[in-house]
Amino acid sequence: MSRFLKQQYLSLEAYTPGEQPRDKQYIKLNTNESPFPPSEAVINAVNADEVRDLRLYSDPECKALKTALAELYEVSPNNIYLSNGSDDILNFSFMAFSENGVVFPEISYGFYKVFAELHNVSYTAIPLKDDFSIDPADYNVNGRLIVIANPNAPTGLCLDLGQIEGILKANPDSVVLIDEAYIDFGGESCFKLTKQYKNLLVVGTFSKSRSMAGARLGFAIADEELISDLERIKYSTNPYNINRLTLAAGTAAVKDNGYYMDNCRKIIQNREYTTLELEKLGFFVLPSKANFVFAKSEKIGGEELYLKLKANGILVRHFKTEKIKDFNRITIGSKEEMEKFIEVTTKILEGTL
Ligand code: PMP
Repeated sequence: MSRFLKQQYLSLEAYTPGEQPRDKQYIKLNTNESPFPPSEAVINAVNADEVRDLRLYSDPECKALKTALAELYEVSPNNIYLSNGSDDILNFSFMAFSENGVVFPEISYGFYKVFAELHNVSYTAIPLKDDFSIDPADYNVNGRLIVIANPNAPTGLCLDLGQIEGILKANPDSVVLIDEAYIDFGGESCFKLTKQYKNLLVVGTFSKSRSMAGARLGFAIADEELISDLERIKYSTNPYNINRLTLAAGTAAVKDNGYYMDNCRKIIQNREYTTLELEKLGFFVLPSKANFVFAKSEKIGGEELYLKLKANGILVRHFKTEKIKDFNRITIGSKEEMEKFIEVTTKILEGTL
């Protein structure tokens, strides 16, 4: 840290992303990426012409991609905001909508707390129930920004539409941000409720179900007024926030939605396989609606399993937080990857690895 850093950032605890090792080949089940490549249409869209055009700025209005998304979600392009990864939208939302503070689940995406601290926003981290689910009744906080990942991470547990509507009704003066990074793996998106509730901000990403984590593309769906607030911040920070190649890739991906939804179905099948096999090994596995499972075993500590898997070429995510330190979060990969994961885990438990 230099002596030039502003006082307000001295105690900032930055977010720690999952490991992205470059040293050796791992079966990577630690950052919830897709095991499937982008579709052929996406690969063709990022072509030599697009590369030549990199000399020009990208479209700050992102017209083509907004139009494609608007068609898919049956909203107007004015109901859509696009950004360089959904983390950016979360960041802007904490900047824009947290005048009276913010609440989010105590066990959830670790970035929420970092954004609150970054912007000096008072926050309450609301404990989960004993079964790790979110109790909507805990979110009667009218006026404060409410941020909920649905499905939640790292638990994978999902609220249904009725529960989300309950939170919206109880908090008409709050912006309710539903982070749907993992919604395509079996949950029901609440984007339709944006027509009815002007305080609902639904945030999505191309990083998980659309196989584009490396392209950095996030989107939000909401009433025009909320979207224009986000646009105002974008035009005050970085108007060309999405690069040309990502815009081309994203537009092609939306038009090829069937390919991605097929992949989601395969992930769901692999998730059910993994859950069943882990349960046979005696693991406790939360019923996940995401592309990961959260599991613990009485036979081995969370950190020990994480380290042994890593030593054997498999990366999963372990959090040292007291309440979840016995668990690991395991991204659902291809069938072959999950079979290998189960085989190695079995041997670790037997003591032969
Ligand atoms: N929300 C949740 C719940 C996440 O787990 C992630 C991925 N780490 C994000 C948002 C951010 O995704 P991205 O910035 O890649 O769109």
